Amino acid sequence: MRKLTPMMQQYTEIKNQYKDTLLLFRLGDFYELFFDDAVVASRELEIALTGRDCGLEERAPMCGVPHHSVHNYINRLIIKGYKVAICEQVEDPSEAKGIVKRDVVRVITPGTIIDTDLLEEKKNNYIMSIYWVDEGCGLTYADISTGELFSTEILQKGLEQNLQNEISKIQPKEIIYCIKDSNLKDVLLKYQGNFDLFASEYQDWKFEYHQAANQLKRHFDVLTLDGLGFTNNHLGIHSTGALIDYLQTTQKRALNHLNKINIYTLNKTMTLDLTTRKNLELTETLREKKKKGSLLWVLDKTMTSMGGRMIRKWIEEPLVDAVEINQRLEAVEALKNNTLIRQELKANLKNIYDLERLAGKIAYGSITPRDLIALRNSLNHVPNLKILLENIASPLLQSILISIDEHQDIKTLIEKAIQEDPAIALKEGNIIKTGYNHDVDELRRASIEGKSWISNLESQERECTGIKSLKVGYNKVFGYYIEVTKSNLHMVPKEYIRKQTLSNCERYITPALKEIEAKVLGAEEKVVLLEYQLFVNIRSIIEKDVPHIQQTAHAIAQLDALYSLAEVAYENGYTKPIVNDGNTINIHEGRHPVVEKILGINMFVANDTYLDEKNHEISVITGPNMAGKSTYMRQVALIVLMAQIGSFIPATQAEIGIVDRIFTRVGASDDLSQGQSTFMVEMSEMANILNNASSKSLLILDEIGRGTSTFDGLSIAWAVIEYISKLLKCKTLFSTHYHELTELEGKINGVKNYCISVKEEGESIVFLRKVIEGSADKSYGIQVAKLAGLPNDVIQRAQLILIDLEKNDMVKDNETIDNSNNNQNQQLNFDDFHREEILQEIKNINLLETTPLEAINMLYYL
Ligand code: ADP
Repeated sequence: MRKLTPMMQQYTEIKNQYKDTLLLFRLGDFYELFFDDAVVASRELEIALTGRDCGLEERAPMCGVPHHSVHNYINRLIIKGYKVAICEQVEDPSEAKGIVKRDVVRVITPGTIIDTDLLEEKKNNYIMSIYWVDEGCGLTYADISTGELFSTEILQKGLEQNLQNEISKIQPKEIIYCIKDSNLKDVLLKYQGNFDLFASEYQDWKFEYHQAANQLKRHFDVLTLDGLGFTNNHLGIHSTGALIDYLQTTQKRALNHLNKINIYTLNKTMTLDLTTRKNLELTETLREKKKKGSLLWVLDKTMTSMGGRMIRKWIEEPLVDAVEINQRLEAVEALKNNTLIRQELKANLKNIYDLERLAGKIAYGSITPRDLIALRNSLNHVPNLKILLENIASPLLQSILISIDEHQDIKTLIEKAIQEDPAIALKEGNIIKTGYNHDVDELRRASIEGKSWISNLESQERECTGIKSLKVGYNKVFGYYIEVTKSNLHMVPKEYIRKQTLSNCERYITPALKEIEAKVLGAEEKVVLLEYQLFVNIRSIIEKDVPHIQQTAHAIAQLDALYSLAEVAYENGYTKPIVNDGNTINIHEGRHPVVEKILGINMFVANDTYLDEKNHEISVITGPNMAGKSTYMRQVALIVLMAQIGSFIPATQAEIGIVDRIFTRVGASDDLSQGQSTFMVEMSEMANILNNASSKSLLILDEIGRGTSTFDGLSIAWAVIEYISKLLKCKTLFSTHYHELTELEGKINGVKNYCISVKEEGESIVFLRKVIEGSADKSYGIQVAKLAGLPNDVIQRAQLILIDLEKNDMVKDNETIDNSNNNQNQQLNFDDFHREEILQEIKNINLLETTPLEAINMLYYL
């Protein structure tokens, strides 16, 4: 250390306090990184690695980025999962004795981004804290760009599953957890690849009760925690306290906008696991992970960013309370039925900026004069919103109306104080409006008068002296001067004082000029400073209102989300569902909200659905591949989910008995990244469903048992249906290839057969997409294969083999598992078909010595 240059000593001292970050060290117009940080950053940012003398024998590795584009670089580092510490000069270099003081002003991590340029407008950026002990788990999450803070407690029963469900709902960008908690690492690992997640350990003592509780008391400025609502959630105290601590340590400020903690319980919303969220493509598509093609894409017609975040949250958290759901439905109905009001709402909402994030900026002290103008412009539209809502008979809209404040004081203050098109920078003047502050006006007047005196000076002096080429100019070193070329020096008056000699001219000043100059420059300097002080003052006045602005923002976000649902309902011809606590799902002419949008509404074939708990809980759906089974089943799940969000639905009419959970087991979603076979994934998902479903749940089961041999698969599927019917009694849609399962109708109570109709046309088939009662009699595999473009030779050969098989009566169509003599199955039946040869081949296989590739080749050969 002693050998290091003083500046590098300063660097090292600071860096030692921020070891787990990349430290960006401000040097003039650059942020520099040194040593290992430089090596990492130059690699990640693809910038040149250079060196700098540091006092040691070898130069310190160094790389740097210009200060004006630093955000872009920080963003790239954060996306790659680094934490970045910003070290600034914290004193004016001109006043510094020795090395300028520097300190870290903020640590930016993936969960603590506030720069609106780096954030997705319609998506929250959450950071989560988890505290896990034997009795359960405290979970807290916050978005520091908007000031939202939520906490819940997850009890021991089903803890891991519930925790995973919460994480997949919230999709935090960053999780902190207690360093001692090794369980969590395993849980968190499961998310890698599903969405970006940055998890880091935090000191265990920060999670300890007293530390955490004291932290909360200080933060919320209360003597006891009783009023915060933690009574049933003491584990939440640990996770919240640690989170606030982490945020204050990294952000280095009080975070006054995190002023309200929302404590929630898990049973208030519909439970959806990660698989179901993904399968139903709620907010992004399964394969491409894009919004387009998801339910959110259809439902989001919000006009503001905060509304966009709200509708996303609603989709992620469907309700289970009939009263709440119906309140939303009524509000949507009221807006849907009034096109004029919708148009007016749209026109006003469109002009409202992200008030939540503006409030965050105010609290952060990072609001700019231009942001204030945006705030004022937004607030100007608020009275219109209130007028529009005044006469609408919807309790929810009325409560929103009450929560919206016009913020007249703030509006008036900004209106009076801030210029219409203010400067971006805070310390260059041009912020404060004329008339707001007497001193500002005086200084500006002095400066203007002085300048006009000076600008008149040139012509005046030319006249007095007779020097035609005389000029008045300005430079930074000497200020204002009078310039006379060498040839005219003899005409210079006595009172001119020489200041500077150039090759072809002399520059002079006069006492009067200097006096005015002092006035002008002094006034300019003073006005800039004064404007800054006034701005800071205005900012702190507005800061006191942050909680109210947040409340207004929240109400407008809700209004915007309701507007969006109404607009979508109107545009797409959706209807209002009857939502109740019953157990029936009865949908007339339902459509898939996304597929119909993509195909065009006239191309989509609507279908009915009926499920109840008495004698109609399981629909077994058969039909060839491509008939539309998955689409139909997902459509039912989405319609139920939409109804519980409070949205109108794509159907002519529907009754929806509220479901507590939707489970999906759809297709072969390979999860090979986690080292599990498709079948294993399928079975563990099935286990999760059977262990957690209640009689209020909705199950979407697509082709259960497909991943194993026919008999195994069929037996498992059969047993699952029995189990659901006897024990769980939950409403279930079950699509299958096993025609044997259609035998269950009449044998097991509550099972009904449906199939999706197709029409044969010669050797081809036409999909009619209509769900009808009964079972499909054929699987049409070869026709579908033909449609898919399999080579003609293969198709023809397959047809011959099929005819051969059928002729030999090897497939006894109507026999089922319980009356079979074990070899009637299509795939296992080799009767008369080189049976002996094949058996011999199989016997010759030495399984222990066979590689997977050889096994596949062998299978193909057989
Ligand atoms: P399956 O699950 O039976 O193999 P899918 O549900 O995947 O079939 O449907 C196949 C395709 O058929 C879908 O991509 C969709 O475009 C179309 N489709 C499905 N249902 C309908 C419908 N009701 N109306 C119009 N097209 C549909």
